[in-house]
Amino acid sequence: MNPEVKQDAVLQKRAETETPCKKRQDYLEWPEYFMAVAFLSAQRSKDPSSQVGACIVNQENKIVGIGYNGMPNGCDDDLLPWSRSASNKLDTKYPYVCHAELNAIMNKNSADVKGCTMYVALFPCNECAKLIIQAGIKDVIYLSDKYHDTPEMTASRRLLDLAGIKHKQFEPKRNKIVIDFNSINLSGMHKATMCPP
Ligand SMILES: [Zn+2]
Repeated sequence: MNPEVKQDAVLQKRAETETPCKKRQDYLEWPEYFMAVAFLSAQRSKDPSSQVGACIVNQENKIVGIGYNGMPNGCDDDLLPWSRSASNKLDTKYPYVCHAELNAIMNKNSADVKGCTMYVALFPCNECAKLIIQAGIKDVIYLSDKYHDTPEMTASRRLLDLAGIKHKQFEPKRNKIVIDFNSINLSGMHKATMCPP
């Protein structure tokens, strides 16, 4: 065998069989992962002005419900309005749209969501606070609180506090998580060969 080809074969074999030297340090921690799942789910939303996702997690760090804002099942979202303002409230999205929190609770794949934590992109409104309380969720981790001063959010805080539900703003360690479908074709070999022989 040509010595160069042989050398390549040896290197390739080593890359395939050697385990990486150390575990990855930049892996996603649980809270970032769950918040990212909420944000990814929000990408399913057809709402042109606000895409919100929610992810419910049980005490074993297992996801038991995911949801995003959208029109109710079976209601054609081409026939319902998506506007935020109109002279008639019936021509806005508000009377119709289901918030991410509602959908995440309704989509649960466990018997219930008692004692669970909800990760959600936006601080929940008062209507969602009611659902969160009645569903037995114990913690709410939100990213943005941009509607903090509205009556809906004020009422929501009041309800959550009275019901003893903790709510905490999530502080991400990174601003961006990129999903690159190509990475699966690069990582294994590349990382193995990064290790010293
Ligand atoms: Zn809501």
